[in-house]
Amino acid sequence: MKAAAFDYVKADSVAQVIELLQQHGDDARVLAGGQTLLATLNMRLSEPALLIDINGLAALRGIERQGEVLRIGALVTHAEIERSELVARHAPLLAQAAPHIAHRAIRNRGTWGGSLAYADPAAEWPACLLALGGTVVVQGPGGVRRIAADDFFLGLYTTALAPDEIVIAGEVPVAREGQWQGMTQLARRHGDYAVVGLAATAQRRGAALASVRLAFMGVAATPWRARRTEELLEGREPDDATLAMAAASLRAEIEPLPDLTHSSETKRHLAGVLLQRLLACARRDSEG
Ligand SMILES: Cc1cc2nc3c(=O)[nH]c(=O)nc-3n(C[C@H](O)[C@H](O)[C@H](O)COP(=O)(O)OP(=O)(O)OC[C@H]3O[C@@H](n4cnc5c(N)ncnc54)[C@H](O)[C@@H]3O)c2cc1C
Repeated sequence: MKAAAFDYVKADSVAQVIELLQQHGDDARVLAGGQTLLATLNMRLSEPALLIDINGLAALRGIERQGEVLRIGALVTHAEIERSELVARHAPLLAQAAPHIAHRAIRNRGTWGGSLAYADPAAEWPACLLALGGTVVVQGPGGVRRIAADDFFLGLYTTALAPDEIVIAGEVPVAREGQWQGMTQLARRHGDYAVVGLAATAQRRGAALASVRLAFMGVAATPWRARRTEELLEGREPDDATLAMAAASLRAEIEPLPDLTHSSETKRHLAGVLLQRLLACARRDSEG
């Protein structure tokens, strides 16, 4: 199928994008990597009258350490994150997650900002941002505002982004001494969206874990934190007894949405398996 006809503007400033969004409202769409948007246009799931191409905006590019945060511009591609030394050093969770996103051709074009704005509950970046306690930086007519990941993902493909705002960057705290970060997922084939995935961070206090954040993908309408299980893990060593207790807690807490091929019960089971697997990695990492 082919997309319906649309007008196209290559924007030369963020201010112009915002002005166009204000003028055209829901008839306009921002075009970043196009890896999701163009497919939805071609399938006629979306028929905007105007595409606003933001790819010429240098201000949305680049990965930079700014004090205690790593700022990743909205137009940074998945592949740039995958090969960034700054990311590997300061946000290793993102470096681990990047190879799981689709295939190289898609990673070469798809962007960090597009993924956060699209807010697919099965996607890697929203869950990682949540696990890292990161922030989405958006800009609109009122200027720049920062929205904590915990408050950004509101529902299925729905975020706190206003219709006349764009994502300009996402920021994650620089990993502190002793911080552990890890992710794991189950997909039907490498490169497919995860059936269930888990991104996690914790601060090591000796052999024990503190400030644990567990962000699941593929289980709810948004990336989802298992807050009761996080609390239960506070101050505990990830030994066998803790792993079993955490998995039981998770099974009681999680209410996964089924998808076309996996029941809620299957996803509940898989989530428990992933949690135990990741906590076992946290233990091995602290021993090594
Ligand atoms: C075959 C295939 C497999 C995929 N597998 C995965 C996967 O396993 N994991 C995964 O995470 N993703 C996957 N993706 C999605 C891919 O990562 C996309 O690149 C990403 O979701 C959207 O980024 P984009 O830059 O391509 O955005 P676009 O397609 O350009 O835009 C997507 C949406 O976000 C909006 N948008 C884009 N940028 C901004 C911005 N800066 N501010 C406000 N709104 C904006 C657009 O208006 C549009 O509504 C897959 C895609 C394909 C085609």
